[in-house]
Amino acid sequence: TLTVDTLTVWMNKFADKIETNKQYLSDLDTPIGDGDHGFNMDRGMKAVEEKLSTKPSDLTNGLKTIAMALISTVGGASGPLYGTAFLEMAKKSSSTDNIGELLDAALAGIEKRGGAKPGDKTMVDVWSALVPSVKAGNLTKDKIRSAVDATKDMVAKKGRASYLGERSKGHIDPGSESSGYLFETLLETEG
Ligand code: ADP
Ligand code: MG
Ligand code: MG
Repeated sequence: TLTVDTLTVWMNKFADKIETNKQYLSDLDTPIGDGDHGFNMDRGMKAVEEKLSTKPSDLTNGLKTIAMALISTVGGASGPLYGTAFLEMAKKSSSTDNIGELLDAALAGIEKRGGAKPGDKTMVDVWSALVPSVKAGNLTKDKIRSAVDATKDMVAKKGRASYLGERSKGHIDPGSESSGYLFETLLETEG
């Protein structure tokens, strides 16, 4: 179950992970995009950390605050998508605090908003591979790594990388790598 306190711990860990790896994430975005993914996410997560330094009144408000901070500061394609994920979790949190169910709603929101399906070499690949593991309670670091690495040989069908067609092959999708960090830090928060 997710609480205001575990949500805050999770987001602070995610922000640290993004900060540490912001150059790497932007480097992943350079050959198949515009080289800004890590910088976009770092800007957003700094804003999230700042917002959460004042304790939200409840889980729904905490999730909503994160969504708004991401939507207004990350920019690019990933900002509205991560923002939608947290907004859908906020809505769902009125009926459940189960992390699996919340992430299920988030994934549905990302798919609806961006129109990407599994196999399109986007963050949807990582989310769709890992949300079932969260629900089953058997998420591992290895599963996360495999889901992220699986995007390497895919041909991008959505986002900037899709402009490259076949030439998008051979590169890990940056939004999948950052999503991997989100699941890794969730694992560290729960563990
Ligand atoms: P931009 O491409 O606008 O510069 P970012 O670099 O911050 O935005 O984010 C790029 C990431 O966004 C990609 O690696 C991919 O995972 C994700 N992405 C892009 N378009 C979509 C989409 N339609 N659906 C899901 N994820 C997407
Ligand atoms: Mg980019
Ligand atoms: Mg950009």
